[in-house]
Amino acid sequence: MLIIMRQGANKNEIEKVKLFIEKKGFDAHISIGELQTVIGAVGGKIMDPRDIELLDGVSEVIKITSSYKLVSRIFQAEDTIVTVNGIKFGGNNLGLIAGPCTVESYEQMDKTAAALKKSGVKIIRGGAFKPRTSPYAFQGLGEEGLEIIRAVADKHKMAVTSEVMEISQIPLFEKYVDILQVGARNMQNFNLLRELGQTRKPVMIKRGLSATFEEWLMSAEYIMAGGNREVMLCERGIRTFERITRNTLDLSAIPVIKKLSHLPILIDPSHGTGLRDKVVPMSRASVAAGCDGLIIEVHHDPDSAVCDGAQSLYPEQYDELYHDIKKIAPIVGKKVF
Ligand code: PEP
Ligand code: MN
Repeated sequence: MLIIMRQGANKNEIEKVKLFIEKKGFDAHISIGELQTVIGAVGGKIMDPRDIELLDGVSEVIKITSSYKLVSRIFQAEDTIVTVNGIKFGGNNLGLIAGPCTVESYEQMDKTAAALKKSGVKIIRGGAFKPRTSPYAFQGLGEEGLEIIRAVADKHKMAVTSEVMEISQIPLFEKYVDILQVGARNMQNFNLLRELGQTRKPVMIKRGLSATFEEWLMSAEYIMAGGNREVMLCERGIRTFERITRNTLDLSAIPVIKKLSHLPILIDPSHGTGLRDKVVPMSRASVAAGCDGLIIEVHHDPDSAVCDGAQSLYPEQYDELYHDIKKIAPIVGKKVF
């Protein structure tokens, strides 16, 4: 249920509505907009909307049957803007994240970071716990990988994003990482999502391999329902009948999500295509379609990468792409970070 307060409703009236719905067993999520405040009543069982309509300051009560509320545009009309290390995602901002698929060694991360720094990168990616399809493939360096990426990021004044795979890893990630990434394969790991709702660090949730937009939004809702407002969505390609590309990068996610949700939508053209020569054009297309951010795999020496070398850009390619992005973004009203 969403409670739309009247324009100019005062703090006291808002507080009374909050207490009322909490008494009925609901959690109150308050969104203070420029013109109106909206209160989301989440989690309880039954409440007669007329009881709320009668409270002072209430303009309208909307019963939402859809299974996501807090992530929806109805709950919050304004775009959510997530800021990490001065880099902004959402609204009129386009944030960039780059780095290798996985952390291999200090030297590899340091060389890649040094190269990316020249292209303005302020958030570096790199998996320490890798969700590999085969149990025999490299599984990541684990905590050592997080230590390395943190040390390198600190050296180059960067922030870190890395994938968290299970609940027990969350304390480690809170220590080392600035954005917690939920991988495509874990998009519906509801226990993990619920726990991530308790963290107060931004979470970037990737779209599952065969997830519909609504399923993806419901997964984001799990995180927001726990009280974490800093959630970002990342389209990384879905599984189709096509075999030439690794996945089918669904750029319609950008306008679709923007209409349904206020959350930033990022694009991962690396996993979305699986091939380096496709990454540059799809990145440009994503920017033109109005994405709020890009996460791109770059390795200082892709030919010797332990994983996903074929889809990793050479640093010089990334630099060229960065300049293209800066040219395209203003056409769609975006500032590049
Ligand atoms: C990744 O970004 O490292 C990754 C494994 O991506 P995805 O979850 O999209 O496959
Ligand atoms: Mn990868």
